[in-house]
Amino acid sequence: ERRYRRHAAAAQPQLDGVRLHAELRAERGAAEIRASYRLVNRGPAPVDSIHLTTHPSVRTGAVTVDRPATVALSDDRRGYRILALGAPLRPGDTLRLDFTVRVGRRGFANDGAGDLVTANGSYLRSGGLPAIGYQPDRELADLGKRRDHQLPPRARVPSLDDSAARHALARAGAEQIAFEAVVGTDSAQRAVAPGALRRTWTAGGRRYFHYATERPIRNDYALFSARYAVRSGRWQPPRGEAGQAVEIEVLHHPGHGWNVDGMLAGVRASLAHLSAELGPYPYRQLRLVEHPGTTPTLHAYPINVSFEEGFALLDPSRDERAVDFPFAVVAHELAHQWWGGQLMPAPVEGAGLLSESLAWYSAMGVVEHAFGAEHLTRLVALMREAWLPPRAPADPPLLRASGWFLSYRKGPLAMYALREYVGAPQVNAALRRLLAAHGEGRPPLPTTRDLYRELEAVTPDSIRPLLHDLFAANTVWELATERVSAAPAPGGMTHLTLDVRARKIVVDTTGAVREVPMNDLVEVGAFAEGADGPAAAPLVRRLHRIRSGVQRITITAPAAATWAGVDPRRLLFDLEPGNNLARRASATSAGGSAPGEPRPAATWR
Ligand SMILES: [Zn+2]
Repeated sequence: ERRYRRHAAAAQPQLDGVRLHAELRAERGAAEIRASYRLVNRGPAPVDSIHLTTHPSVRTGAVTVDRPATVALSDDRRGYRILALGAPLRPGDTLRLDFTVRVGRRGFANDGAGDLVTANGSYLRSGGLPAIGYQPDRELADLGKRRDHQLPPRARVPSLDDSAARHALARAGAEQIAFEAVVGTDSAQRAVAPGALRRTWTAGGRRYFHYATERPIRNDYALFSARYAVRSGRWQPPRGEAGQAVEIEVLHHPGHGWNVDGMLAGVRASLAHLSAELGPYPYRQLRLVEHPGTTPTLHAYPINVSFEEGFALLDPSRDERAVDFPFAVVAHELAHQWWGGQLMPAPVEGAGLLSESLAWYSAMGVVEHAFGAEHLTRLVALMREAWLPPRAPADPPLLRASGWFLSYRKGPLAMYALREYVGAPQVNAALRRLLAAHGEGRPPLPTTRDLYRELEAVTPDSIRPLLHDLFAANTVWELATERVSAAPAPGGMTHLTLDVRARKIVVDTTGAVREVPMNDLVEVGAFAEGADGPAAAPLVRRLHRIRSGVQRITITAPAAATWAGVDPRRLLFDLEPGNNLARRASATSAGGSAPGEPRPAATWR
């Protein structure tokens, strides 16, 4: 950064195509990749030099271009090279750049080994190949380390208002590329790369695999090779619907077969539901590919979704929460073929809402469609477990979300809450419009403001304040039902009188709390006695206007109603949801638990 950031604004051509020939040598733990990049000058100005950021985990050999050029800089220690072109590359012109990269065993760091060629289970990511231009993503992020290197403090993530970031053309991994690869490997192994498998052959005792994409993919891919067991399937869009047949493969360790049926079912269910809700899946192949690693980590490369062995070992049948989490996670990764695959968020605050939150929200729809509403309720409860450990409520609004909690948990639950207020068809229509406007992965890249505008368009005026509270402010509701009393009503019904206390606060990123007047539509519900607290299904559920302070609400319910309260489904973010419901005619104002969910543990309080 200190030496080369001054090149960050240098005009650079854009990566448009990748062709590579990789030889994986399992017996030596090594690989050699010969590659060609096709670069196009998409900018308005001529380009006089090509800047390359190389990766420290590999050895990058000589880099040449298809025209006269000289090496102006080659700093292998810091991974930066500059090729000065003999004649500038004019706008619209293309250039071919050739290089080799060698991968070898280099030991391992404290957090494990990086990409490796192994005896059985090689995994090489595209990030090891040179990136075009200076890469701000690789600057030190940690404030202490920045200080050690005399670098000024800077925001971890560019601001939502950073309009230049919406045109981040030179960011490696974000480009749309044509891809073609020949991968040679051990004769007993199957190699995997993105695209259609065009041909395989054997030569010199080795097996070769030729892959090519049929339409552009995001420049984010991996090469895999292992002695895989392969489970194949096929999915076809329903007659009359857009899209094309998809060949599905699950490539896994032969000993890790327990979840393969469920994963294949997850892929089929996801393709069916997501295509119908969001638009066609753009490719004709979809693979789940296992690679070594102990964590349950997956990554949604275009076409090929990788999963570590740790994911293959999960046993959903023993999950006491009765959630098929592997199925839901497969749906989440498949949803990334739309959110992150087709819609590429600008690399600014809130990007996690557009990729991770929307992928989880869409996965919820897949789960509901496949297993029913109750299974989705259990998945939502599982996601709410993120609120169990104590955490400070100081957060940015979701429109500026970053980090795991906001992107993977609060964001999806905010989308779910909005859906319950305005309806799934309306929310999905908004998402379809967002994809239609920004699904090409080309600048200007979308931000959460684009999502918000589409959501606003489908949200009735009465719910607009909630939309704002969920996404544009870090809002916390404090809702409690302090007492429920009952009186007989005609027709075998009962009048329930609820004493409700309500407060709404906004907490900023420094933790400063500001009380805001509450005048919100909140669900009020009544429930029969269940096995352990209120029964899961409500006897009565309707929206009621709740204001700040103490208030009395009367609802009429069937006589069996024993429990009643506000926001029984916990759609609003409340740090103490255990007191939303109360038991009727109880002598004290003891709180109850939300229906269908375990009683809150002591850690809630
Ligand atoms: Zn994800």
